[in-house]
Order: sequence, then C-alpha cells, then structure tokens
Amino acid sequence: MTSPFPNIYQLRRVSSDNAKPCTICYKSTQAVLVSSPDFFYVCESHLKDKQFCTVKYADGEDGKDAEYQSLHEEVRSLDQKATQIQHKIQQRESQLAKVRDYLWKPKDDENQPDLKKQLAEIIKQRDLASAKLEKFIKAYTRYMLDAVFYKSRLQQHSKKIRQQQIVQKLNNGTLFPSIPDLPKP
Ligand SMILES: [Zn+2]
Repeated sequence: MTSPFPNIYQLRRVSSDNAKPCTICYKSTQAVLVSSPDFFYVCESHLKDKQFCTVKYADGEDGKDAEYQSLHEEVRSLDQKATQIQHKIQQRESQLAKVRDYLWKPKDDENQPDLKKQLAEIIKQRDLASAKLEKFIKAYTRYMLDAVFYKSRLQQHSKKIRQQQIVQKLNNGTLFPSIPDLPKP
C-alpha cells in the first residue's frame, strides 16, 4: 500500500492571528509542518530535536542531500583557503617587520600585494558560495519525522478519512440498511 503522503514535511509559517497549539506540547505556535494533504502545528524548537525529526534536503520526493553536501563542501574549502592565505600574509608581515626593524628601512615584498589580491578573490568566491548555500537551504529544507510520529500522522489521516466517509454516508442515508417493512405506528 502506498502511503497517502510522503514523510517529507515542509515548514510553513502562518500569521500570529492563525497561531494554534503545538501538537506536541500545546504551546501556541505559528509554525506548520506540511506534507499535503497532511499538516500539523508544531513549535520550531522541536524541529531541532533528533528524536522528533531529521533535516533532509529535497524537492518534492527528489532527494537533494548530495547537492547540499557539495555546496557545503565548497564553502568549507574556500573558507579554509582564505584562512591559509591570511596566515601567509600575517607570517610575511611579521617577518617583514623583523627585517625592517633590523635594517631601519622599509623593505618591499613583491608577493604581498599578490597574496592580498588572492585573498580578496577567495573571499568573494566564498561569499557567493555561501549565498548559494543559504538560498538552497531556504528552498529545499525538509523534515523527516521519526517513524513513531509519522505512523501516528498516518493513523490520524485514516481516522479523518473514515470520519468523512461516515458523515457522507449519513448525509446520503446509506449508513444504515433500509428496513422497508417497519410496522407503522
Ligand atoms: Zn511544542
């Protein structure tokens, strides 16, 4: 049996007028987790609780965790490069200062402007990569509920469907078999 909705929930926020009690702790919250047709209100603080859910990156049912990893890795490696160059610049500057102090005259270091240019370029790339990562996180962050919570969502969903069917049958008058030969009062 395929499930009526996947265990991939997206966070939506409603206005403060539409805040409702959290499904878990009953505090008022504006955050809603949605995996259409299912949705429920939940405090955003619970989203960090690994016992409740784990973060996934996805577009619909297409996983995007690998893309997240590679964007994250790009930012990390550019950060590392920037730190290395900063280190080199500091080292050169302190060596230069020693030489300067020793000789009592300014000393040119031809590599220094080059390193600073390199650093500026790397920082520019890093900022671009972080902006891309942020945009990605905003667009594709999803939450996978812990198995117990997901099962309870599925149960609530089928209960709701059953209730709707009963209401429909009551409205149609088909819930109870008709008894044609009831004695007249
Ligand atoms: Zn709560």
